[in-house]
Amino acid sequence: MNLLFVASEAHPYSKTGGLADVVGALARSLSKQGHRVGVFTPFYKSVRQKHPEIEPIEWFFDVPLGSGRGKGRLWAYDESPGLTFYFLEEREGAFERDGFYQEKGIDYQDNARRFIFFSKCAAHFARYAGWKPDLIHAHDWQAGLVPLFISDQKRQGVWDDAPPTLFTIHNLAYQGNFPTYDYELTNLSWDYFSVEGGVEFFGSMSCMKSGIVYSDAITTVSPNYAKEILDREMGCGMDGALRARRHVLTGILNGVDYSEWNTESNPFLKSSFSAFDLFGKNSAKRQLQSELGLPEESDIPLFATITRIVDQKGVDLLIETLKTILQRGADLQFCLLGSGAMDLERALEDLQDAYPDQVAARIGFDLGLSHRIEAGSDFYLMPSRFEPCGLNQLYSLRYGSIPIVHGIGGLQDSVIGPSENLADCNGFKFNEFIPSALAEQIENAMAVYTKPHLMKHLRENGMKADFSWNRSSAEYLDLYLKLLQRPH
Ligand code: ADP
Repeated sequence: MNLLFVASEAHPYSKTGGLADVVGALARSLSKQGHRVGVFTPFYKSVRQKHPEIEPIEWFFDVPLGSGRGKGRLWAYDESPGLTFYFLEEREGAFERDGFYQEKGIDYQDNARRFIFFSKCAAHFARYAGWKPDLIHAHDWQAGLVPLFISDQKRQGVWDDAPPTLFTIHNLAYQGNFPTYDYELTNLSWDYFSVEGGVEFFGSMSCMKSGIVYSDAITTVSPNYAKEILDREMGCGMDGALRARRHVLTGILNGVDYSEWNTESNPFLKSSFSAFDLFGKNSAKRQLQSELGLPEESDIPLFATITRIVDQKGVDLLIETLKTILQRGADLQFCLLGSGAMDLERALEDLQDAYPDQVAARIGFDLGLSHRIEAGSDFYLMPSRFEPCGLNQLYSLRYGSIPIVHGIGGLQDSVIGPSENLADCNGFKFNEFIPSALAEQIENAMAVYTKPHLMKHLRENGMKADFSWNRSSAEYLDLYLKLLQRPH
């Protein structure tokens, strides 16, 4: 099968969160199984600077953007015989900036223009690429207009055999909603700009809604989140549009690329370990404590979090809870790696100043440290308000850092708490999103920490679990095949 992915991030080239990991890993997993995969993604400044292997190719774009034109060129890298990454350069430098979507917490003013251009070029490439993709898989709002551009060309009778489109929602909270006047940049008929037409969303133009309405099928990144987003509470205003298309909506739990996220042959880790030999895990803990400036104590449980510091991730709840239990004298260590909301970054630094022997806050983005934290910590805290899938709890399971999570979304699908089935249990869950509920699970974890046989049991269950892409990519393949067989 020939597959074209359209996504605004792809690991290892560009990454702000899980989208990048998923796009890179799924593309690699499918290409290893003999499929031809092209990944269409922006040529950001940092990608250009860090990847000299990417070369320009003889493919130019000149597309209408409202009353003006958008011009660009493709760069490409053949990573393996079945896998090519196509990087879109925009001539005026729309992707040649320090951030991908924003700087210092402020979105770029021309994001509509940037990603309308991106989606137009992707649809154009899908139509004219010599290798004729059988299916287009668009990811998140940045690629949400691709299904519409393709469907419009079919409607106009200029591309009758256009391939089917699949739209994956990695996070419904980010919707790409822009003022009405930006719609002109699409050069599409205003017929689409109505509630029934699919693009209009409370008076704005919505790239996410366009993906939901115009794709042939929709997936999201866990079965539980696929159910949750049909409800008003979790539907971010899109629940109506999603309910109307629930017959084509499924949830496929993300996988983990274990060739990157592993504890035995990992360039970021000094000690290796496995479910069968946990000796190296103790060394990883000491090394992490030393790297973070925490006392090198093996008897104190080390809790960790790696996260974008945004409302979704519940960092506010985490800080409040930690403050309370540290005030009560809890004998634990905590470290966090992340960046985002400045007030919460400051609150974390204040917590570190108040408890320098117990708390280490590292503000920033650091891939190597993220591996070392997973390896060196005993417990991983993930109190997200909502979580489409979540990857860090899956990495934690493999790294023997027992997850403590809010039982929602993909966290509910991947973490098994003691109240469910003690034999299969691999972590801790709390249901009510309140500090006392999280505190209770932290305290339960601390009690388990004093019982080595229980720690071993939980750890082993987590480390042996298989969340590899083989399983997830098989589910995507099934869906691709169904779409190819269906008249669309
Ligand atoms: P989301 O996509 O909502 O950010 P996920 O759990 O799905 O959440 O994926 C987050 C990914 O981003 C993980 O690979 C995580 O390790 C990584 N990550 C987040 N913040 C940082 C950071 N500050 N430094 C390094 N990696 C980070």
